[in-house]
Amino acid sequence: MTSAAPVTPFPNRAVRLPSVDKVLLEAGELIEQHGRSRIVKAVQSVLADLRKSALAAEAPSEAPSIATIINQVSAQLEQQDRSNLKKMFNLTGTVLHTNLGRALLPDVAVKAVVDAMTSPTNLEFDLDTGKRGDRDDLVEELLCELTGAEAATIVNNNAAAVLLLLNTMAMGKEVIVSRGELVEIGGAFRIPDIMQRAGAKLRETGATNRTHLSDYSNAINADTALLMKVHCSNYVITGFTKSVELSDITALGRERSIPTAVDLGSGTLIDLEQFGLVREPTVRESVEAGADLVTFSGDKLLGGPQAGIIVGRADLIAQIKRNPLKRALRVGKLTLAALEPVLALYRSPELLTQRLTTFRLLTRPRTEMQQQADILIPLLQQQLGAAYLVQGEEMASQVGSGALPIDQLPSFGLTIRANPAHKQSNPLGRLEAAFRHLPRPVIGRIANDTFFLDLRCLDGDQDEFIAQLNLLKP
Ligand SMILES: *Cc1c(COP(=O)(O)O)cnc(C)c1O
Repeated sequence: MTSAAPVTPFPNRAVRLPSVDKVLLEAGELIEQHGRSRIVKAVQSVLADLRKSALAAEAPSEAPSIATIINQVSAQLEQQDRSNLKKMFNLTGTVLHTNLGRALLPDVAVKAVVDAMTSPTNLEFDLDTGKRGDRDDLVEELLCELTGAEAATIVNNNAAAVLLLLNTMAMGKEVIVSRGELVEIGGAFRIPDIMQRAGAKLRETGATNRTHLSDYSNAINADTALLMKVHCSNYVITGFTKSVELSDITALGRERSIPTAVDLGSGTLIDLEQFGLVREPTVRESVEAGADLVTFSGDKLLGGPQAGIIVGRADLIAQIKRNPLKRALRVGKLTLAALEPVLALYRSPELLTQRLTTFRLLTRPRTEMQQQADILIPLLQQQLGAAYLVQGEEMASQVGSGALPIDQLPSFGLTIRANPAHKQSNPLGRLEAAFRHLPRPVIGRIANDTFFLDLRCLDGDQDEFIAQLNLLKP
């Protein structure tokens, strides 16, 4: 090209690209790895992109070599093959974080899931009779043993459990719920909405802060199908408050021949006080207080897979199982495979803090996290340089997923603040994004001009955390 050459347009510029066939001749290795049709498509797409940018360029450019094109094809394939679901580090301080997948499964559950994925199982096969079985049988006995209930059934999640329960018990009829319990749980689960979709009519009673037993009895009429109590998962009403004891509601229900259901939300199978955690009502307590049906989640405090569990009176559970919606809401075999060993761990409650991941994380001693901080602070400080200040600080984690809403667990972690002497724009935002864009993203939280990394859930994979720190470039 001489300096006198016209600058634009260059209609023939695209012609200088090699043909697809020519590139394919040298892509033997990629073809072997990915199959011919995929490579043809990728080469076509890379050539099309190159042609487009050549035409858009202001000046003619060198034709790329075939090796360069093949590199681009390779990069495109790698990009496509990257998994969308990524392993992360949850340093938010919320142990059961719904957006990050809630409970982590213990190894016994992982192994059972692998077995169920790779071998046929007796999912719905009665080995005693050789006839068809019910998939709920795999965990029903265990659930009855752990809760004192007569029967149990499992569905996709607790929202599904509530929907199925209401639809079975109260389609076209009224359900009495206290105004103080009309909760919304994150992700648009609202008791009034579920009630409507279940075909049941919500009959609110009492006031937001105070509900008396007489409010329930006055609300009962010929259309009443169910009394319902909902555990206030994610908020507390304090001050001048009154709610009615479950045992009083169930007594009223028995007197008027109306069943009582409890949506426990998280629910727990054991008393958490023995681990230094704050009390949360157990499923057994609800059953003993006379609740006819109790629903709770599998992946909140229970520490298992996503599931909704309904336990209660045998005749009512049988009715629920006959509802055609049960078929639509049933769980898959992987869920049941994971749930059984998790439930079985509860037979040895004292060992749960060692064996059940969720309890291990919830009860991790602060000193352990402090020791981790001592290792991590200098490494992070060195990587971030003088623009940021890294420190170790006491902080408070929370259980999450609406369990124990106000109770905070004494925790320890790292705080990172921007050095005001360095004039930078949005330093914490850039820091947060840099952590989030690491190969294994690290999620913390920003509050009060500080980036918080709670170390409670950095348990067992500290080396992997350290190994990628050299890529952290805010
Ligand atoms: C969490 C919760 C639900 C929903 O449970 P999922 O398992 O997330 O479907 C319903 N009710 C209450 C009270 C809850 O806390």
